[in-house]
Amino acid sequence: MNILVINCGSSSLKFQVIDTETSNVLAKGLCERIGIDGAITYENVRDNGGKNKKEVTIEDHKKAISLVLDALTDAETGVIKSLDEIGAVGHRIVHGGEKFTSSVIINDEVIEAIREVSDLAPLHNPANLTGVMACKALMPNTPMVGVFDTAFHQTMPAKAYMYAIPKSYYDEYKIRRYGFHGTSHSFVSKQIAAYLGKSPEDLKTIVCHLGNGASVSAVKFGKCVDTSMGLTPLEGLVMGTRSGDLDPAVIEYIAGKENLDASGVLNILNKKSGVQGLSGVSSDFRDLWKGKDEGNEDAALALDVWAYRVAKYIGAYTAAMNGVDVICFTAGVGENDPRSRALVMDYLGYLGITLDEEANNVRGEIAEISTKDSKVKVYVYPTNEELAIANETYALVK
Ligand code: AMP
Repeated sequence: MNILVINCGSSSLKFQVIDTETSNVLAKGLCERIGIDGAITYENVRDNGGKNKKEVTIEDHKKAISLVLDALTDAETGVIKSLDEIGAVGHRIVHGGEKFTSSVIINDEVIEAIREVSDLAPLHNPANLTGVMACKALMPNTPMVGVFDTAFHQTMPAKAYMYAIPKSYYDEYKIRRYGFHGTSHSFVSKQIAAYLGKSPEDLKTIVCHLGNGASVSAVKFGKCVDTSMGLTPLEGLVMGTRSGDLDPAVIEYIAGKENLDASGVLNILNKKSGVQGLSGVSSDFRDLWKGKDEGNEDAALALDVWAYRVAKYIGAYTAAMNGVDVICFTAGVGENDPRSRALVMDYLGYLGITLDEEANNVRGEIAEISTKDSKVKVYVYPTNEELAIANETYALVK
């Protein structure tokens, strides 16, 4: 079945059409600067059509979806003849709160429920919903599925998701750890089990999703038991521009010194911190390594702080699961950066892990990067959130 996968931000909309029978991407693209001026980039992947970008006024998300549908059915560059060839639409929804523990078929009740949890992701959920509403208006008879970034983590036990603050804040405001990147953690933990010829129920897996945003999860016998992101994606690992874990008292301290309010400081912790903030060089690991190679000590420090934090979480999650069978590296850095993987692996000798340096010299492909005699297997396993959304959508509508 052809599934249209939509990932809608406040001023952008990414899309792919995936044939779930073959897992092939037929077409993909991006609408940018929605509500500002507008541009659509479209690529007919099936026929190697190349990318073409068109500047065009996109006043709202409905217009964006209508441009996407026009491009997909275009006589020359399209990949389908009519919209009937799209079996369903899969929408990425960032926050499902405690209401959504798995993907769901979207109906009016679900739309209302997504709206209700928008408080927890005020920038993301309303934007995601604009994509849902636009598709509903333009393709009223095509089923839609919501796939939540938080859903996979809903199996965490209370001891992992509760913060040690007055319990009334959980009871009244639902303040707790939710975790994000769930679609990726779910996809990689299931795929690696299949790749190893095992059932997820047989494995204790740690998935390290290391991209610009980054998180780790502990997946015990197929269920997530802990993850590093929290109420928001700010907690946990050192990321491209996010600080990850720190003493909350830092917020008041910076606020006082810099004459900022809480949201001003949070903006710094989200957008100007992480390896970017530490290095003053870049949030991109290619730039950090170049900086380090040229003798930039701050770039070297940023890489060290980043790797040390990943290693600490791997240690914590090994303890949480009373062992680990397989560790997976995924996402932009995890898939493409052998040197950053090696920095993390340097800490894992106590688990009986040795890095296979030659095998580690891979980018973007499945590879076993621990030596054959390592007690715990370490893999690079590329994530594919769009394919995961397409598969989840197909599973619900078939
Ligand atoms: P993601 O958020 O998963 O798309 O990851 C994006 C990040 O991956 C970029 O900011 C880079 O830091 C990193 N990345 C992508 N390609 C490479 C590469 N070839 N070498 C090192 N880092 C890379």
